[in-house]
Amino acid sequence: MADNQFTFENEQFRSTYWHTCSHILAQAVKRLYPEAKLAIGPSIANGFYYDIDSPTNFTPEILTQIEAEMRKICKEKSKLERFELPRAEALELMQDEPYKVELINDLPADAIISFYKQGGFTDLCAGPHLDSTGRVKGNAVKLTSCTGAYWRGDEHNKMLQRIYGIAFPKKDELDAYLNAQEEARKRDHNKLGRELEYFTTADVIGQGLPILLPKGARVIQTLQRWVEDEEQKRGYLLTKTPLMAKRELYKISGHWDHYLDGMFVMGDPEDETKECFALRPMTCPFQYQVFLNRARSYRDLPMRLGETSTLFRNEDSGEMHGLIRVRQFTISEGHLILRPDQLEEEFAGCLELAKYLLDTVGMLDSCTFRFSQWDPANPNNKYEGTSEQWEHAQTVMQQILDDLNVNYEIGIDEAAFYGPKLDVQYKNVFGKEDTIVTIQIDMLLAEKFGMYYTDADSQKKLPYIIHRTSLGCYERTLAYLIETYAGALPTWMAPEQVRILPVTDRAADYAAGTRSALQADFRSEKLGYKIREAQKDKIPYMVIVGDKDVENNTVSIRHRSGEDLGAMSLADFSALLKDVVDNKKKL
Ligand SMILES: [Zn+2]
Ligand SMILES: [Zn+2]
Repeated sequence: MADNQFTFENEQFRSTYWHTCSHILAQAVKRLYPEAKLAIGPSIANGFYYDIDSPTNFTPEILTQIEAEMRKICKEKSKLERFELPRAEALELMQDEPYKVELINDLPADAIISFYKQGGFTDLCAGPHLDSTGRVKGNAVKLTSCTGAYWRGDEHNKMLQRIYGIAFPKKDELDAYLNAQEEARKRDHNKLGRELEYFTTADVIGQGLPILLPKGARVIQTLQRWVEDEEQKRGYLLTKTPLMAKRELYKISGHWDHYLDGMFVMGDPEDETKECFALRPMTCPFQYQVFLNRARSYRDLPMRLGETSTLFRNEDSGEMHGLIRVRQFTISEGHLILRPDQLEEEFAGCLELAKYLLDTVGMLDSCTFRFSQWDPANPNNKYEGTSEQWEHAQTVMQQILDDLNVNYEIGIDEAAFYGPKLDVQYKNVFGKEDTIVTIQIDMLLAEKFGMYYTDADSQKKLPYIIHRTSLGCYERTLAYLIETYAGALPTWMAPEQVRILPVTDRAADYAAGTRSALQADFRSEKLGYKIREAQKDKIPYMVIVGDKDVENNTVSIRHRSGEDLGAMSLADFSALLKDVVDNKKKL
């Protein structure tokens, strides 16, 4: 093996290391809790876990004791020795471990049944592992949490306890990792966004259906007005179309065949004798009716339709996460209906708009681009159209992306069912990636909806369609903004831009006269306390009004960063604020 195969950057070595840790974890648990029954213990993307059936509740205190036992096992430097057994003997060896017995029974008849032994502990496993427990650095192992997990992920099975852990070859690497996780947790929008009262959830409403509180709703309103204005500047026509339609519409669009599981259907989808409605998962077939409203000629194209559109998608409950994975969301949807010769220019326009918006909100630098293609090996059930149509659409799109110098990765089997996509990807604080903006080329749906235009040669022709978003889903964007700025949103989009902090009663009267639309903190608390509160609420500007300010007809300005901007006239402060807001500065 080459040297670098034993470095932690090597994915295979890392997973072998972590998998060995899960054996050490299991051995430690069995020593301390011999009655515990072991299920499975793999390495994962970020460490390892072991699922255990135990009457003892693995509290954080107990996890600390298990960690100490793991350190002992590392010091013992036991060799990990592999051996194989015929099925009957394997079952006998594991007779006290019911989950292992079930696993063995599920192995195919000709499977090799292998075990690994370290000291007095043996586990059913295919390997590979490090050759000794001494290879694991005992003081750089951390058990991070314990959660419930159903045996084999099936809710009909027993709920087991899953102990998660992480380990590194060096203690300082572990410390750096744990610090980074701690920082990420502080920025996590699902925690911070609730603390700052941007959004909440209610069991009685349901999972994946966040409630935007006044502050969150205000940010989204600011973004939405801005996006609609920017689209109007670029020739978009605003539409407002229904949130639901009969099944017949989705049958034409293909959603009924390709996306039914992801839709909220009202009524029995099977019963053709009754009307059946479904909430919309996408805006496309609704906006096409705008084009179909009257006969169209080549002069009508490109037609750029935009809509601030609320959509519904029945995500799995396990997928739900704060504002990032939700069942109802509002998105800057749009469809451009165009002649084939307009495709490249219009695609470039969509990309320009998305980049401009993402850059202005401060997210573009952390975005990556994915050219999402179909999977030629899986063409029939998931995708509409023929191989030739897909090859054509993807070739055209690749040419456009190359012309525009887009630096993309390719995602196979990530396309929409009607065409390839350029997906702009963003990562949350924990490194999980999702799509923030998408631009898609569709050469199929116009035909299904009979969307023809009369060309200059008087021939009826089918247009191409671009499906696109410009700032994506507002809820998700808000989540990323909270995480990107750790809650301290730039002033222009902050729900509360300025707070007035009067120092004395005399100043309070003066402040009351100056505040107009601004919020003021009139509580008779100490100034230091009010400043700390305003900083905790991430208010960009604090207007401090003291007796001197009353005399001089000034206000004293502090920025949330701690910077003291000193005393200035109210007019000067208004001008400063106007500049920061109008120019969308990242202050
Ligand atoms: Zn193993
Ligand atoms: Zn669409």
